[in-house]
Amino acid sequence: MPTTIGTLYIISAPSGAGKTSLVKSLIDVEPRIRVSVSHTTRSMRPGELDGVNYHFVDREGFLSMLERNEFLEHAEVFGNLYGTSQRWVEQTLAEGYDLILEIDWQGAQQVRRLMPLAKSIFILPPTQEALRHRLTKRGQDSGEVIERRMREAVSEMSHYVEYDYLVINDDFAHALDDLRAIFRSNQLLQGVQQQRHGGLLSELLA
Ligand code: 5GP
Repeated sequence: MPTTIGTLYIISAPSGAGKTSLVKSLIDVEPRIRVSVSHTTRSMRPGELDGVNYHFVDREGFLSMLERNEFLEHAEVFGNLYGTSQRWVEQTLAEGYDLILEIDWQGAQQVRRLMPLAKSIFILPPTQEALRHRLTKRGQDSGEVIERRMREAVSEMSHYVEYDYLVINDDFAHALDDLRAIFRSNQLLQGVQQQRHGGLLSELLA
């Protein structure tokens, strides 16, 4: 039996806020944290790898997984289906890792209902202009596409009040520091430390 149960974290952000880069840097420096790889029906972008960025599946495959209740949560985002494997989440937490779900506000609502002890973090850009700039930098998209992404970003951001923590990604290093502080302080909670250092506590009190 594992002696420690990890903590589940939900991280959401509008696209262009820098969530994926922040999470990647966080797990590079924090060996106790894992990130869930979601299933999605969207097509692979250049540079993405199946099984690394996502498990890429077709709609039929996704729907049959859904029918078999394999998802902890799922949502349709911009016309594509996304879902988190329940079994993988349970296993990873049982192995004692803290686990991050990078999911949208709809998935966050479902996970909070099922796992009320999950901590949720919302990452915000420093200004609308910075967000527009980051969405523009990404590729050769038309003005219309960028304006649509901006509207989608504003709609995602309107859910910030549902989250426990807000991190503003003005300066990358500072935002990463803020994220680390959230994880670090949660790892120091009495209940978490008690699970992790049960042996030490018994010895100290003997
Ligand atoms: P992208 O396709 O740009 O990687 O992600 C689009 C949106 O889908 C992002 O807001 C991302 O957080 C969300 N997303 C990615 N995976 C999941 C998932 O498993 N569940 C839910 N609910 N949203 C997800």
